[in-house]
Amino acid sequence: MISDSIKELVEKSSVIRAMFEEGASLAKKYGPEHVYDFSLGNPNVEAPASVNESIKNILDSEKSTHIHGYMNNAGFPAVREKIAESLNKKYATTFSQDNIIMSVGAAGGMNSILKAILDPGDEVVVFAPFFGEYTSYVSNFGGKLVTVPPNPPEFKPDAEALSKVLTKKTKAVIINNPNNPTGVVYSEDDIKRLCVVLSDKAKEYGTDIALISDEPYRELVYDGGEVPFLTKYYPDTFICYSYSKSLSLPGERIGYIVIPDEMSESEKVRSAVTVATRILGFVNAPSLMQLAVAENVDAEVNVAAYDKNRKALYDGLTGLGFECVKPEGAFYLFLKSPIDDDKTFCDMAKNENILLVPGSAFGCSGYVRIAYCVAYETIINSMEGFKKLASTFGLS
Ligand code: PLP
Repeated sequence: MISDSIKELVEKSSVIRAMFEEGASLAKKYGPEHVYDFSLGNPNVEAPASVNESIKNILDSEKSTHIHGYMNNAGFPAVREKIAESLNKKYATTFSQDNIIMSVGAAGGMNSILKAILDPGDEVVVFAPFFGEYTSYVSNFGGKLVTVPPNPPEFKPDAEALSKVLTKKTKAVIINNPNNPTGVVYSEDDIKRLCVVLSDKAKEYGTDIALISDEPYRELVYDGGEVPFLTKYYPDTFICYSYSKSLSLPGERIGYIVIPDEMSESEKVRSAVTVATRILGFVNAPSLMQLAVAENVDAEVNVAAYDKNRKALYDGLTGLGFECVKPEGAFYLFLKSPIDDDKTFCDMAKNENILLVPGSAFGCSGYVRIAYCVAYETIINSMEGFKKLASTFGLS
């Protein structure tokens, strides 16, 4: 019954499901406090109380036909206007509601954008290591994923390497800043270098190359770091934002896309993304959540909780002799595996009840991802197991 194309995808996703189930069965066997599950990017910080309050107030005060009804596929105009105003205040931009399309999280946003711009055979460039789901998002529309090789140990985007993979068929380049899985934040200089390459190549080929900035972690930055707002640097930029991580709402499926006026054929692109949102079956982003996030556009993210985890994990692991780039954003740490085979290292960590994701799942073998959006105690208590692993490999 099922298509050949989905068979491989099912096979791959069962690896992640297996990890899920492994965590649950280890927790049953040893007790959850003795299992250190760093596998998933599911925020452990509570959603701000103001979000829950807003949801209750909206349900009590608004007409249900307004809350629950169909709407413009781009989302409620008043919600989009509020988001545009908030962005204008933060980034000195000049957006209006016309530049904003509400999306079903970042995943929904990315699919709507790719549906709107890809023809079969078009190439989409990503920097390894990258969020593994991009492979499926691009193949959903017959696109071909092209990878810029990893750039260790700092994992900054390499503009020269980018210029080597761009072709006449390149339709888009995806960047993810702050980055999953490395925790690296690309600076203004990093971005400027990439944008020069993109502009030059688009001119040379006489094509449009879109820059898609996937930004679910935009507010999760540490030590006063800043994430450049990309529409300022390159006109053909899509911003794909999500409240999944910043407001801890991944199950609610809410985010937005920004399409600036400066983009070539901006109005046509906005119509295309709006129609894509409808015909992919999303129809529109969840209505109650649109209204709730509009009341919380400036809600503060509890960065301090993740920062405490980041420091404990980074100091603990480097103190044991492990190597990694210091995370500056998001809630991931990308650890160099002491052996080339990252999967075997993950298996060995599992023997210590530590669950990690192999870097090969992100297109970068020899590393493992540690998601530290977990209880602080999980990090502290996992150190005994990491210590055993370090001594197995003669690190400490
Ligand atoms: N992009 C990146 C880089 C992510 O890490 C994630 C989720 O972990 C997503 C997109 C999907 O986010 P959402 O839950 O908003 O669809």
